[in-house]
Amino acid sequence: MTADEKLKIARFLDIAGDSLYTGYKSPAPEYHFCDDAPVLHEKAQAGDSLQQISSDIMACRACPLCETRTNAVPGEGVSSPLVMAIGEGPGADEDKTGRPFVGRAGQLLDKMLDSIGLSRNSNCFIANVIKCRPPNNRDPHLGETSACAPFLERQIKLLKPQFILALGRISAHYLLKTTDSLGNLRGSFLELNVQGDTIPLLVTYHPSALLREESLKRPAWEDLKMLKAKLES
Ligand code: URA
Repeated sequence: MTADEKLKIARFLDIAGDSLYTGYKSPAPEYHFCDDAPVLHEKAQAGDSLQQISSDIMACRACPLCETRTNAVPGEGVSSPLVMAIGEGPGADEDKTGRPFVGRAGQLLDKMLDSIGLSRNSNCFIANVIKCRPPNNRDPHLGETSACAPFLERQIKLLKPQFILALGRISAHYLLKTTDSLGNLRGSFLELNVQGDTIPLLVTYHPSALLREESLKRPAWEDLKMLKAKLES
């Protein structure tokens, strides 16, 4: 597919996505996909490494978010994680530091993980669906998500986490290829098929939502207890 064809699809997806989710049509943004991006990802499959994925992310210019980022945020954690926690995309603090979940939501995420014996320092990997900050923390456009998604796919294939914790709507929708409500997606283990293997996946609220809405903390705690019980079983 040429860069021009990708541009057309990305424009269409953004317009379709906006109408689908909100009924609002934003002006089509300008994309400049590089023609060599798929080649880069294909080449990487054979001898991929976390280091290689991170340097590909930092060099990526496949969508317009590269123009406004300070740092791309590949993710961090251990190389054979028990749990891979996947958020939406970097915020201001993450953009500044190049590290995932380091702002207020990140501190809450660390506490949530710690409450069930998990940590990015010992048994987790933390990443996002998109690796560069959308301006003003807006939701990523579908074109940006599809340009960035191969990086997350490479990370999941390489890390082979035993469990995935999808944090919030954007992450759950992208991973499960659904637009179902968070309410319907929470509450039981779902499955993600990766190269013939099945990874159990649990959806919970995004820590930012918990900071905004205190009443979501109780159900989020129920999710964590469910994950803990599964980890111990
Ligand atoms: N929110 C996310 O989804 N990811 C981060 O890294 C920080 C905040």
